[in-house]
Amino acid sequence: MSIIKKLNSNIINNIAAGEIIEGPSSVVKELLENSIDAGSRNIDIYIEESGIKNIVVKDDGFGMSKNDLEIAFKRHTTSKIHSKDDLFNIKTLGFRGEALPSIASVSFLSAISKNNTEINQIKIIGGKKEFIKKGALNEGTLIKVENLFFNLPARKKFLKNKKKEFNKISSIVKSYALCYPDICFKFTHNGSEIYDLNRNNLKNRIGDIFGRKFEDSLISVDYQKDDCNINGFAGNIDLLRKRKTNQFIFLNNRLIKDKLIEKAILQPFLSSIQRNEYP
Ligand code: ADP
Ligand code: MG
Repeated sequence: MSIIKKLNSNIINNIAAGEIIEGPSSVVKELLENSIDAGSRNIDIYIEESGIKNIVVKDDGFGMSKNDLEIAFKRHTTSKIHSKDDLFNIKTLGFRGEALPSIASVSFLSAISKNNTEINQIKIIGGKKEFIKKGALNEGTLIKVENLFFNLPARKKFLKNKKKEFNKISSIVKSYALCYPDICFKFTHNGSEIYDLNRNNLKNRIGDIFGRKFEDSLISVDYQKDDCNINGFAGNIDLLRKRKTNQFIFLNNRLIKDKLIEKAILQPFLSSIQRNEYP
């Protein structure tokens, strides 16, 4: 008799969830990325108790059929890549097909989706499908995630600091809002509006988020060499801060942190201070 056994898919999803879903902010990140990949123009994010109680993300993207809505919650299922070659030409934020089954395995999840022909709703509790039936929704997809980590009490205990969790979510929403100024984002926490951002150009979007005064201190950056294109805005010396919380660097529309790039951005400011160009 062998002592090695294949894990059942629920346990596999639970383990994967541990890696992919660190807390409410990872849920928001994954759902937002899916909404962006679905071509949405309007995305609403609604959270309660820093996302620990519930997270709702609603979009106006192309939605899913009944079949797709069921398949989407199985592991390694994706509409975004099909072959090895696709791996070298990824145009979407997601492609691993792991987020939805991971989130669903550690929460009470309900999803409603409308495509051209039908509207369906699925409910999954701790990875187990409760039902799939006809639903009601004007457009796109609405995903509601409640009781995150209800079946992983040790993980839930780690989510004690609500302020910290809220700040993480807020920073994620902010970064996508900056990366996609042509998408309208609405972000609500415990019924209070945090952001209601209309479609805009990047400069005005920065103003919408950080305040209009900020806009006066922006320097436009637009540089191209070979296949590399760098654009965005840097702040003038008035916006120079020790902490980098308001520095957002994106590579191919993905938020990245990179010490070398951070240093390269900072260096000209430090040099001019050394040259006494600023009082
Ligand atoms: P991935 O994004 O890596 O493909 P996910 O588990 O996040 O994996 O999603 C699985 C699939 O479900 C996606 O490939 C997509 O086809 C579909 N999907 C998920 N969210 C949405 C959404 N908001 N609108 C339309 N389709 C969606
Ligand atoms: Mg995804």
